[in-house]
Amino acid sequence: NRNVVIVGAGHAGASAALQLRQNGWQGAITLLGAEGELPYQRPPLSKAWLKGEVSFDGVVLRKAEVYQQQRIALRCGCRVVALDRGAKVVVLSDGARVPYDALILATGSRPRDLPVPGAGLDGVVTLRTVADADGLRSRLGSTGRLVVIGGGYIGLEVASAARALGRDVVVVEREARLLARVASPEVSDFYAALHAARGVDLRLSAAVEAIGGRDGRVTEVMLTDGTAIPADTVLVGVGAIPESALAEAAGLACQDGIRVSSTCGTDDPDIYAIGDVSRRPLPFNGGAGRLESVQNALEQARQVAASLCGLPAPAPEVPWFWSDQYEVKLQLAGLPGGEVRRVMRGVSAEGRFAVFHIGTDDTVRAVEAVNMPAEFMTGRQWIAQRRAVSPARLADVAVGLKDAAV
Ligand code: FAD
Repeated sequence: NRNVVIVGAGHAGASAALQLRQNGWQGAITLLGAEGELPYQRPPLSKAWLKGEVSFDGVVLRKAEVYQQQRIALRCGCRVVALDRGAKVVVLSDGARVPYDALILATGSRPRDLPVPGAGLDGVVTLRTVADADGLRSRLGSTGRLVVIGGGYIGLEVASAARALGRDVVVVEREARLLARVASPEVSDFYAALHAARGVDLRLSAAVEAIGGRDGRVTEVMLTDGTAIPADTVLVGVGAIPESALAEAAGLACQDGIRVSSTCGTDDPDIYAIGDVSRRPLPFNGGAGRLESVQNALEQARQVAASLCGLPAPAPEVPWFWSDQYEVKLQLAGLPGGEVRRVMRGVSAEGRFAVFHIGTDDTVRAVEAVNMPAEFMTGRQWIAQRRAVSPARLADVAVGLKDAAV
């Protein structure tokens, strides 16, 4: 009858609470979340939410009754300010102390700041929460021109939603290509062409020097080459950093996230960490890394719940992710990188193609599929099976996909 406390009621924390009950956990479960809302899904916030196509009911993870039925004490609007590992309690902002036998840290990540003058002006925003998304949606209602700083997934999804709403959009990206950290050059080039065709003004290899304003409100974005881009709203989407301050202050091992084992354990046997905040082993790639995805949040929720309930560890999952921009769906499995050659199947100019990342032993390591769900599904299975393929057959769309495996 051990008592588990979960800090952070996001995708990972709420899923872990529900999974513990599903696994037969008998003890108390307390789920503490700083946001005022019930736990919800963030992916729609940069997509359907901005276009007004979905309400909170459509993004909520579970209704309030479910937590009651499952005997999960969910406390929204409740911030944890310290961990006392010696006494095994978490301390809340009102000074209350909540004891635990086992503690799960699921505090997520937050948008990285842009360290330039003017970043604090009114009209310069980031996107992480429902409150942020509401604010951005109402600004987009009256904005003439949106400048997006950062050509990553969130920035590009917001750019696509803003174009759908008829706004002028400029995307400023420091690297020479979009999605430089997370996608292959073929996928980057496809998205650059797509956004340009939809009227987005792309500025690549462009660094922001400062954000200018008048009467406290943003008016322009200044680049290091002297260009000034007029702006009514600026979305800063330059990555996220882990919310690991509590763990660091409590002396847990951290290095770009809280370091955890394959069962989500930290270096304190009674403390676990899951989701965006954790730096975890990457079984299909070797080494460790931080993953920011729904799949990772759910996988680690299952891992920690199995570990606490004394159940066998679930089989490792291949990481996967998706992005929706305009009518185009990108699905990725595995983690691009390492020594691979890339094999293209399909034609990017037709808006349907997949890039397979093949290791030196001909096994599939990653796949990026644009409007090609079968290639994504099969690629994901191949990665899990460490399956070898014939690159020549894979590149030939006249050969059935399954016949490319050897
Ligand atoms: P979060 O969901 O961030 O939850 C952490 C929670 O902990 C927050 O509610 C926070 O307020 C709370 N918290 C933090 N500190 C404290 C504290 N001290 N006390 C109490 N509570 C605290 N992933 C995909 O796979 N596909 C997508 O298309 C996709 N799109 C995205 C779009 C947007 C706009 C964003 C922001 C993210 C997107 N993601 C997407 C990423 C995905 O949403 C995250 O990986 C996922 O939410 C991580 O879950 P988490 O529980 O670790 O963190």
